[in-house]
Amino acid sequence: AKAAGRNTFAIFGGHMDELLRRRRKLEHDLRLALETRSQIEAFYQPVYSAEHKGLSSMEALARWKHPEEGFIAPDIFIPIAEEIGLIHELGAKVLEDACSVMADLPLISMAINASALELCSDGYPLRVLSRLAKWNIDPKRLEIEITESLAFGEEGRSDRNIAILRNAGVGIAIDDFGTGYSSFSRMQKLVVDRIKIDKSFIDAMQGESKPLIEAMINMARAKGLKTTAEGVETDEQSDALVALGCDSLQGFLISRPLSRAAVIDLYNETGKQ
Ligand code: C2E
Ligand code: CA
Ligand code: CA
Ligand code: CA
Repeated sequence: AKAAGRNTFAIFGGHMDELLRRRRKLEHDLRLALETRSQIEAFYQPVYSAEHKGLSSMEALARWKHPEEGFIAPDIFIPIAEEIGLIHELGAKVLEDACSVMADLPLISMAINASALELCSDGYPLRVLSRLAKWNIDPKRLEIEITESLAFGEEGRSDRNIAILRNAGVGIAIDDFGTGYSSFSRMQKLVVDRIKIDKSFIDAMQGESKPLIEAMINMARAKGLKTTAEGVETDEQSDALVALGCDSLQGFLISRPLSRAAVIDLYNETGKQ
């Protein structure tokens, strides 16, 4: 037993070293990727209008194609970018890519994700608006997805930044809606344009979460907010969401996130509905 214990310790110790080494390498490689403006680009997931079942907008999602490891998931590299202070550069790159697609597809609107660190930073609204101006893009075509805690103004400057962006015409959506600390009383105070109902609710749609989704959609409607269902994977989910009056659908049933070239092809085949 003693020997096994020692072995376990040795293996565990070695494992930690390995994890740390890997982490340092990823930090180094991410820095390099952002400095050289290579490897990282946006993909675009189509969002369909529930009414017409056609392309109405898309969400830009960061992709990192690492030269040795292939694609690394955003759930891995976004937190690293936040920790080492590179999330602003990353967000700027995704916005730049998104603007270039919007410039090519004049009827399409686009959503981007903002990290709490970006949304709370002083210059963020101006950086976004000047980027749009540079590309000559109407701010009404951009929507920024934020988390619930930000929407409720728990993080200092976010309230003011949201107001600046909204006054300029940029839409604000609450991402992963329902997974945070929303309550109906707090919802009364929300000043946003859209809620995106989290995939976990859509997954459980055939069961216990259907009444919850119905309540979210009705509440959103009463407040004049648009609704998007995230992570729609089956026809049953899609049909039920349409019946409940959900405005937009996003998920693998419609399409996975696509490269710039693929999403432009899709647009040219189907057009905007
Ligand atoms: P999110 O904003 O909630 O984005 C939706 C995620 O769900 C995406 O994962 C998308 O590929 C995935 N997804 C969409 N439809 C389906 C479906 O039907 N089934 C399943 N299983 N998954 C689906 P992705 O691209 O890996 O992004 C993960 C998260 O990373 C995003 O979640 C977002 O929070 C963050 N992220 C991605 N790009 C950016 C970015 O440019 N900036 C920031 N700050 N965060 C980003
Ligand atoms: Ca999102
Ligand atoms: Ca989401
Ligand atoms: Ca998410």
